[in-house]
Amino acid sequence: MDMSHGASQHAAASTSPVQVAKLALRRLALEKIEPTPQNYARAYAAEGGHAPETLPERARPLLQRLAAPVAESNAAADALVQALMAGQWTVAGDVLDQAATKSLGQAQDWSDLFQRLAQGLERGSRLWTAARKKDGLARVLASSRSDPRRLRERMRHLLAAWEAETEVPLTDSAHGALDAAEAAASAATPEAPTAAPATPPADAPNGAPDGEWHTLVHHLERTVRAALPDGEARAEELAQELMQLSAQVAADGATPALLRQADELCQRARRLLGHRHHLLDELGKLCVELTEGLTELAEDDSWARGQCEVLRSRLAEGLNVRSIRAASEVLASARKRQALLRGERNQARDALKELIQGMLTELGEFSEHTGRFHANVGRHAEAIAKADSLGSLADVVREMLRDSSEVQALVSQTQSRLQAEQARAGDMQLRVRELEGELRRLSDEVSTDALTQVANRRGLTQAFETERLRLQRAHAESSPATLAVGLIDIDDFKKLNDTLGHAAGDVALQKLAQQVREQLRPRDTVARFGGEEFVVLLPDIDPAEAQKVLTRLQRQLTASLFMHDNKEVFVTFSAGVTALRDNEPLELALERADEALYEAKHTGKNRTCIG
Ligand code: GH3
Ligand code: MG
Ligand code: MG
Repeated sequence: MDMSHGASQHAAASTSPVQVAKLALRRLALEKIEPTPQNYARAYAAEGGHAPETLPERARPLLQRLAAPVAESNAAADALVQALMAGQWTVAGDVLDQAATKSLGQAQDWSDLFQRLAQGLERGSRLWTAARKKDGLARVLASSRSDPRRLRERMRHLLAAWEAETEVPLTDSAHGALDAAEAAASAATPEAPTAAPATPPADAPNGAPDGEWHTLVHHLERTVRAALPDGEARAEELAQELMQLSAQVAADGATPALLRQADELCQRARRLLGHRHHLLDELGKLCVELTEGLTELAEDDSWARGQCEVLRSRLAEGLNVRSIRAASEVLASARKRQALLRGERNQARDALKELIQGMLTELGEFSEHTGRFHANVGRHAEAIAKADSLGSLADVVREMLRDSSEVQALVSQTQSRLQAEQARAGDMQLRVRELEGELRRLSDEVSTDALTQVANRRGLTQAFETERLRLQRAHAESSPATLAVGLIDIDDFKKLNDTLGHAAGDVALQKLAQQVREQLRPRDTVARFGGEEFVVLLPDIDPAEAQKVLTRLQRQLTASLFMHDNKEVFVTFSAGVTALRDNEPLELALERADEALYEAKHTGKNRTCIG
């Protein structure tokens, strides 16, 4: 609210005092200035075209004393006093704002320094013993406590030397460097915020203050060191040399000899890191090889095929942390479920084997019995031939009857046991087949969403690939073919989850997927793209028709509801559709569909827009 600026174009010299008074009031209102007598007087003067009120010269020393601790430099303090004396309030405000910003930065600097100090004090070092650290700290505090800027700079020097764990004896060069910095700091003009070295190093970058130069070298050194692999002798040696070099720079500044040494060390680091990159490439190739070989290693390759394809496509995206983690997750979860199922199947198979074994033993026993019966029959025949009386014949017949009824009982007993065991064997075989089917389904599941049973992202990629080839073929034959791509997002799904629970949300997802699946043509694709988002691929219709299809679906969905826990649940969705352009990847078409979806969301939801 600087009244000195733009003093009025409103009021001409000829304006009457009443008009000037009105304009002054208007100015106060416009500039939202409190209507105190002083402010009013100033506004009146400004509107009347008078020079802005200045402060008397005797106020200057007082203002200088007030400004010194507030401004961040002497120049800034001068500027502040000048502005106040001349009544340039905006200028004065700006100077104060700058000072406030600067002091915020300084507070951050200080907090960083304190953090480094705490870490430095905790870190054990042979060279920087606790006593030496204490001594160094005491020296810095004693020599710079009256000047915060210099204190900060010297603290930085000291901490850099601690962190570099220099081999250079503290009492000589490191303290020497501190002293030099101190000397330079006292000689430096108050405007120079950081201390320059007493003799700037020949190779110091243009105008870069020495302290910052050391810090820069130190950061670079730590970064290179962190990039070097752990536990490798050559890397450890290099890290050690880098550390020493950094300490040397902190102590002596950047000399040509140190620069040469740095160049040589950097070349070695580049070679070593280049080798690591090569190693990573080779690891990537190994992963691909392993993936290819996985189907051959698997007991039944149909169980592993799905996972292998996912791994292959993930690895084809390039070797990055995300793709590797995703691939490991696919493998780990599939392996866990397969191990469970395989265990169960093996148990069923073992039980079946045992059963068959039992049946065989039983059959053996049975044939033993019947063999004995046959032998008895022979014996009985002989006895009949020899029988000389009815009485003895009757005895033989009685014995025969007993034998045959025993055998009959055994036969029927064995028969029923065998029937029961056959039924059990049949059940087990069925279970084995079920489990094997489940294992196969598990592999297929990699392209199907488990919750909604529509395609997942992988299934979508496969379907899109088929569509892309179809379009390509049609294009080559100059026949018309198109593909509409739609993105569907359930409306206010979070609210549904929050009010009815996650389980109800899951059912809503299933219902929606089912409805979309049922309403679309068999050649259309529905895929779950993410949480509550679905993608549809609609061949040979244009976006306007696709919009109609989806709008119809929306109307049907609005008219229907489902029950969950005796509560009525309504679900609506918004959608965006677009036409796939020539040779366009799916991602680009989806981006356009997403923009259209965004429009649908922002124009009332439960509608479909074209992108
Ligand atoms: P908008 O209408 O703007 O789309 O709002 P919204 O609430 O649908 O959108 P938002 O993206 O904020 O919320 C999506 C919610 O979907 C958040 C997440 O908890 C839920 N969600 C994602 N995946 C699943 C799932 O598999 N099951 C269930 N029940 N909820 C899911
Ligand atoms: Mg969403
Ligand atoms: Mg949503």
